[in-house]
Amino acid sequence: MTASRAKRASRHSLLGTFCVLVLLLLVARGAVLQWDERRLPPSKGSRGQASAAPLPSASSSPPALRGSEASISNSIHVALGTPRDADPSDEYFLDERSFVLSYSPEKRVANWVAWQLDRSHLGHVRRKDDFRADLALPARFYRVAESDYLHSGYDRGHLCPSADRLRSPADNSQTFLFTNIQPQLHELNAGPWERLESHARQRVEGGAMLFVVAGGLFSAPFPTIGNGVAVPAANFKIIVILSPGQGLSDVNADTRVLAVIMPNQRGVGEREWTEYLTSVDAIERASGYDFLTAVPERVQRVIEARTEGP
Ligand code: MN
Ligand code: MN
Repeated sequence: MTASRAKRASRHSLLGTFCVLVLLLLVARGAVLQWDERRLPPSKGSRGQASAAPLPSASSSPPALRGSEASISNSIHVALGTPRDADPSDEYFLDERSFVLSYSPEKRVANWVAWQLDRSHLGHVRRKDDFRADLALPARFYRVAESDYLHSGYDRGHLCPSADRLRSPADNSQTFLFTNIQPQLHELNAGPWERLESHARQRVEGGAMLFVVAGGLFSAPFPTIGNGVAVPAANFKIIVILSPGQGLSDVNADTRVLAVIMPNQRGVGEREWTEYLTSVDAIERASGYDFLTAVPERVQRVIEARTEGP
């Protein structure tokens, strides 16, 4: 009797010891896991969010996409299609939020800048005039600065105009990034180029919504100013005229498109912008780019061949 009771008692104490051991193991494992979690770097998702906030722009896309066409393809500014040429090696795409652009590291200016323009972009903030290097460009590229234009004889000509971005100081400031600037003769910048900019805004005041692309046409070899900044032989602009709320699916054979090529040469100052009206096809031939690439081919054929009257 006493022997079997002693046996049972020792079995109980063995069971008790086992349970305590298991409990201790569980507690220890929990502590180690917690400690590990503190040591591990944050997960990919939270790291992306943490570094995205302080970056000035182009931060919405993962680093692998930086500079690629995919990094801008969701932008409203290229809703009618990203301009495309046969040489993607000279394209670094930037989403500046106020506009998007393709930068040429070789020419050190944008190949083109695209922006959507409606009443919401116009306003009364003071022109910021804070011309500056675009730090969104990777460090391996030369970043054009004020000194490149100093005593060059050329204006710092906006592609997306300052006056098209006046709803907030931040929006306006974006237009003064040197990636949005090309060397323009003052008489072009302050002449027909500026008068077309004003005309476009008048249309917006009158109830239109526009999709605009502007850029340079370059001779080979192209002249440069400063530290190798290419001077365009001419500037082009394409303005697709729609109504507020419209988009890609509303572009049809009747859609009006203004297209101009303005020489960056002496003698243009007194000319009217309407003297430079041409077709999108002519700009495509001169630049090597296909524009309005998201518009159905049969519609492109019609609206790109037409030269609008003033
Ligand atoms: Mn200008
Ligand atoms: Mn086209």
